[in-house]
Amino acid sequence: MEPCSDDEDEDLPPGLIPSSSAIDVFDVGISILITTPPESMEKVNFRTQVLTRHLQDNHRVAATATATAISSSPCLSYTPPEVSEQPSSFDVNSMRKLMDGHNLEDRDWLFNLMIQSRLFNPKLRGGKLFVVPDYNQSMEQQREITMKRIQYLLDHGVFEGWLTRKGFEAEMRKLALLEVIEIFDHSLAIKIGVHFFLWGGAIQFFGTKRHHDKWLSATENYLIKGCFSMTELGHGSNVRGIETITTYDSKTGEFVINTPCESAQKYWIGGAANHGTHTVVFSQLNIDGKNEGVHAFITQIRDEDGNICPNIRISDCGHKIGLNGVDNGRIWFDNVRIPRENLLNSVADVSPDGKYLSAIKDPDQRFGAFMAPLTSGRVTIAVSAIYSAKISLAIAIRYSLTRRAFSITPNTLKFSCSITQVISGAFSLFLQRHML
Ligand SMILES: Cc1cc2nc3c(=O)[nH]c(=O)nc-3n(C[C@H](O)[C@H](O)[C@H](O)COP(=O)(O)OP(=O)(O)OC[C@H]3O[C@@H](n4cnc5c(N)ncnc54)[C@H](O)[C@@H]3O)c2cc1C
Repeated sequence: MEPCSDDEDEDLPPGLIPSSSAIDVFDVGISILITTPPESMEKVNFRTQVLTRHLQDNHRVAATATATAISSSPCLSYTPPEVSEQPSSFDVNSMRKLMDGHNLEDRDWLFNLMIQSRLFNPKLRGGKLFVVPDYNQSMEQQREITMKRIQYLLDHGVFEGWLTRKGFEAEMRKLALLEVIEIFDHSLAIKIGVHFFLWGGAIQFFGTKRHHDKWLSATENYLIKGCFSMTELGHGSNVRGIETITTYDSKTGEFVINTPCESAQKYWIGGAANHGTHTVVFSQLNIDGKNEGVHAFITQIRDEDGNICPNIRISDCGHKIGLNGVDNGRIWFDNVRIPRENLLNSVADVSPDGKYLSAIKDPDQRFGAFMAPLTSGRVTIAVSAIYSAKISLAIAIRYSLTRRAFSITPNTLKFSCSITQVISGAFSLFLQRHML
């Protein structure tokens, strides 16, 4: 009898170990109460026999009276589509070019880096290596392995130039690599995205040269780990309503950041619970009793040993239904003092003697200018849905190529073959429409 399940890894190349913890659904005890009219009993008996056979095959139960009825059935065998299917009738390379769009070599390079490390759980299937996260790990394990994966990618130069290299080519490389990372695991991509695109992006777009010189290279090399503290318990979409308040002390040349009430606590902040060392804090700026609106400030929240800085309180948002590799946290600021230079001052500044300076006089326009760079973050979230759709497409195609829905004995349906034909036809049509 061929194995029903593909859970066992084939021989992996030297240096790779199989991931261990797939849940066997047949370990779960099932009891069913059936009240069925007699005319349906025949069908029920048939289904019961089929289920029994599946259960016994999976557990290799010792022979019983029913087991004598078990015979080898092609319905239950699995072979990867690469082994069982004829070569596709459409040009796979054209399809790949269409789906990936650009920087194919960079994508392959990163994928090859991933399959070489056990951190990415490489699995051999049908002679091909696949990488897949283990979502059965605990929240703590997922957070830890996400950080280790980042370190591995960092050590292999994946993030080189992500914040310091300018131009079209650098941008396209970065986007392609991010897509590969996102296709592997959203937690990994979001954790990287918060650091590079929210924290790093805020430095790039809200800051000026003094901030770029000090922070961009350090961020690219993970000498510091950045977060982005905009959302509060009381205010998410309505950023203008946030309640964190920052005043300026001209005697010391420092800003003083404060969380005045519980609804002002920073909430959902990616990276805050475990790893973040610095954050951009969005806050109302109060100068001489006048509220000048929302501004962004750089604040250190942990030292290099991971200790939380004085006057800062952090707690963990805990387990989520997804993205458990990201350590979301809550932050309170108790009159935290930061240097005047830590105001990200591309739109407005405060002079050493405490004068508010901005070329944009209208507060509405100033807020608009301030928030505009965040648009790229929204696009990134939407684009992630496309990445997920691509994964879904690959899974659906592979599954439909191996799924045998009915018996293949004579005079019965060969359903999976018709699915293959439909998909092949649909792809050819798709390619004709979009590539020719
Ligand atoms: C996993 C996760 C990670 C996050 N990471 C970060 C982070 O690192 N940093 C950070 O600052 N924030 C982070 N956030 C917070 C995120 O930015 C907010 O959840 C988001 O801005 C929405 O705010 P909210 O949850 O308070 O929803 P609300 O503002 O309360 O909105 C609730 C619902 O009402 C709708 N709505 C709101 N206003 C209107 C309106 N005027 N008209 C019509 N509909 C409206 C919204 O679309 C939404 O569907 C994270 C959130 C999550 C879930």
